[in-house]
Amino acid sequence: MLNFIDGEWVESESGRWVERENPADSRVTVAKITQSVKEDVEKAVAAAARAFEKWRRIPAPRRGEILFKAGEILKNRREELARIITLEMGKILLEARGDVQEAVDMCYYMAGEGRRLYGETTPSELPDKDIKTIREPIGVVAAITPWNFPIAIPSWKILPALICGNTVVLKPSSYTSYSASAFIECLNDAGLPAGVVNQVNGGGEIGEILIKQSEVKAVSFTGSTKVGFEIEKTAVERHIPFMCEMGGKNAIIVLDDADIDLAVNGAVWGGYGTTGQRCTAASRLIVQESILNKFKSKLVNEIKKLKIGSGLDETVQIGPLVSENQRRRVHDYTQIGLEEGAKLVTGGKYYIEGGCEHGYFYEPTLFENVTPDMRIAQEEIFGPTVALIQCEDFKDALEIANGTNYGLSLAIYTRDINKAAIAEKELQSTLVYINAPTIGAEIHAPFGGIKNTGLLHKEAGGRGGAIDFYSRVKVVYRDYSGRLQRAQIDK
Ligand code: NAD
Repeated sequence: MLNFIDGEWVESESGRWVERENPADSRVTVAKITQSVKEDVEKAVAAAARAFEKWRRIPAPRRGEILFKAGEILKNRREELARIITLEMGKILLEARGDVQEAVDMCYYMAGEGRRLYGETTPSELPDKDIKTIREPIGVVAAITPWNFPIAIPSWKILPALICGNTVVLKPSSYTSYSASAFIECLNDAGLPAGVVNQVNGGGEIGEILIKQSEVKAVSFTGSTKVGFEIEKTAVERHIPFMCEMGGKNAIIVLDDADIDLAVNGAVWGGYGTTGQRCTAASRLIVQESILNKFKSKLVNEIKKLKIGSGLDETVQIGPLVSENQRRRVHDYTQIGLEEGAKLVTGGKYYIEGGCEHGYFYEPTLFENVTPDMRIAQEEIFGPTVALIQCEDFKDALEIANGTNYGLSLAIYTRDINKAAIAEKELQSTLVYINAPTIGAEIHAPFGGIKNTGLLHKEAGGRGGAIDFYSRVKVVYRDYSGRLQRAQIDK
């Protein structure tokens, strides 16, 4: 996979390539990726800076037409792109199609936003004078993305940035550069002018170089909290806006009045969907003690039915982890859980049966007797490991759910409308689900977290979301009185 700079696919000046293997069968190479160096980043940023001067002057509805066309291209290539995602990242085809669909949806949504980049008008306190706000782009945006949503997350960043008139340099995860390239190709085929979107491949060091370029005027990052905090520091030092969407430790609360079967289905999808590799994955289940045993036995029953294997097999529900490192990390947490005194209900091992011995498969894992302070209940594992935590009552459940450093997604299953209403207010996360699992965000609502998951700005969703981050407000005062008027002084 080449870099994409100034409208051309080009090899890095380094001449170095890295192979990306199929996580379902590590003997198979899926792509060879050119490894960037500083000069490549500088060229990409310079191209984006040049393109910005033209792109920002193209009327937003016209920019929207290009994004709409990109949506059509992505829709037509959805199956092909989904297969690339499955081969490169491992998620099952059904979910890979959803990954591409998010980008399709975001194209159409942002195309429409091109006609809705509203400002405000307000009367002045002085006669013959008015005030309006207009939205302006920021400049070159650095987009740094993780591997778990190889097309959806780049689309969340790039499309809102573009509709507002910014240009972009994308640095995708080195695990998923191929998928990112396929997405960028669709944008290019839709007719984006050269330099408006660029892609540089490489590891974290390339991301670090990118955000330090003086022409980069904003950074949008999704990834781990550790890296996000470093990026925040650099952005503050450089005095540029940043949006960092980071880790999570999400939970589903199940109260004793809940529809247990519904809650079990939600727990399975929330905990084990995408093999637990979602920032919104439900890695904690907080269940009221009176229904704990019933809930657990139904849950284990469902977990045992999950089929593990290559994501290309349409009958499979659990694909591999993205890498051997990630599998080791998941297994380390299994040991940590056992050492802390949690009890393994099911799973906890590498999965090497039925042709899976060459992939990074891990059994869906459930711990019980987990206390809220244990590391497996506090730290993001990012794999198919779920902690079952007992709670006494509603109040206790809320305290446990809120008792981590993260604040992305929390869910509650209850039939009591009063409790649901209280939970909606008391849960400390940006996303709250009632009678639904922690995953399932839609692109037209803001997305992101609080605490160590995120700070001020939000992804997706228009107002209160990405449009607010990728545009800044200018206030225009127009005085048509023909005389000097002084605010706060003249009456
Ligand atoms: P990561 O932090 O290791 O890497 C993310 C990206 O940052 C990659 O492109 C990487 O190359 C780059 N990077 C690494 N070090 C860098 C540095 N010093 N400077 C600049 N860039 C650098 O994360 P990952 O393993 O790719 O993804 C998994 C993480 O992403 C999980 O913690 C998950 O919760 C999080 N995530 C969060 C959200 C959200 O919206 N909150 C969504 C998806 C994933």
